[in-house]
Amino acid sequence: MEFGLTERQEQIRGEVRALCRRFPSEYWRRLDAERRYPDEFVRAMTDAGWLAVLIPREYGGGGLGTLEAGLILEEINRSGGNAQPCHAQIYIMGALLHHAGDDHKRRYLPAIATGELRLQAFAVTEPDAGTDTTRISTFAERRGDRYVVHGRKIFISRVQHSDLMLLLARTTPLDRVKTRSHGLSLFLVDLRTAGDRLRVTPIKTMLNNETNELVFDGLEIPAENRIGEEGLGFSYILSGMNAERVLIASECIGDGAYFIEHATRRATDRVVFERPIGQNQGVQFPIARAYMALEAARLMRDKAATLFDRDAPCGAEANMAKYLASEAAWDAANVAMTTFGGYGMAVEYDIERKFRESRLHLVAPVSNNLVLSFVGQHVLGLPRSF
Ligand SMILES: Cc1cc2nc3c(=O)[nH]c(=O)nc-3n(C[C@H](O)[C@H](O)[C@H](O)COP(=O)(O)OP(=O)(O)OC[C@H]3O[C@@H](n4cnc5c(N)ncnc54)[C@H](O)[C@@H]3O)c2cc1C
Repeated sequence: MEFGLTERQEQIRGEVRALCRRFPSEYWRRLDAERRYPDEFVRAMTDAGWLAVLIPREYGGGGLGTLEAGLILEEINRSGGNAQPCHAQIYIMGALLHHAGDDHKRRYLPAIATGELRLQAFAVTEPDAGTDTTRISTFAERRGDRYVVHGRKIFISRVQHSDLMLLLARTTPLDRVKTRSHGLSLFLVDLRTAGDRLRVTPIKTMLNNETNELVFDGLEIPAENRIGEEGLGFSYILSGMNAERVLIASECIGDGAYFIEHATRRATDRVVFERPIGQNQGVQFPIARAYMALEAARLMRDKAATLFDRDAPCGAEANMAKYLASEAAWDAANVAMTTFGGYGMAVEYDIERKFRESRLHLVAPVSNNLVLSFVGQHVLGLPRSF
């Protein structure tokens, strides 16, 4: 059993940490206040090659694995930044790598690796389907050499900062498929040519993440932009989900580490009743407990990533890593908030911003209830609830 990182992995961690130092808390705080996208940060990450980490070397990428990608995202969040605005380029890459044809790969991957093309948007969620993805109704109808798309999506992030978007749409009506997960297809949409056939309306949320409602009103997609076979789109996104879970777990571990480091420092430095507040076990123990939970989640993330990179089954580990890490980060967020007292709520201390950011991961991209039902049904063999 190996528990340490390799020299190369430590080096990656160090290099990303150094890059993140150029984007201190003030930078993220200002963006948050202005609800602005971190263009400069994303550019720097792209130029350094970190957003192309999973793209094979032959297409100009880093050719590294999920664990390395996870370490990169972890470092961003640990530094006080927010990986959310740029993580999709890493985590939706699996669909292209595993299911796109060679011509697609040659056409898109090198340009994505250099940043000439941004693939940052992934459109799945719909207002009337919610967590039950198999109920989506956005429909792509085949007409000759194109598909014509009608429907609605909700909470689709980074569309305004992306050139390409992956779209999951129904291609066979629900009442004509053998099982609900059939008849869905995956498309690569060129947002630059979508025009008014795709209406994008921003949704304001409690965090600085550009997210949108989309209305497809006869958007035409060339048939060649379908990824893989018609009708198998759901299985393609399922196969990418283990990587997504590992990467989100990594962001949560970064958030948790941020909270614990800041809470520890505050508990050491802040003197009340003539002693550091961390001398009180009522302050110290919750920080220690949060640290242990985070370290346990980190072990599960490392295991899941290692299995994934060896092409071994890892559905259970990837789901458990996502659950444990998001819960540990959220506990750490609350511990930091309590340790900072009133100052935790003051914007200049950054705790409230990170607190808002880390809350998202209990719900998205998959809600923790769905992870529990996965473990209950698929790992423990309990009866299906839906
Ligand atoms: C900031 C933000 C960014 C996002 N970005 C994207 C994006 O880029 N692309 C994209 O496709 N989506 C995106 N999403 C959507 C996100 O993935 C969904 O919000 C999430 O999957 C939950 O779906 P829902 O909001 O419809 O919740 P609902 O399906 O309405 O569920 C509400 C609650 O009920 C629970 N629930 C529902 N059914 C069950 C059940 N059978 N058993 C137990 N509990 C259940 C859920 O767990 C949840 O807690 C984003 C969301 C947010 C908030």
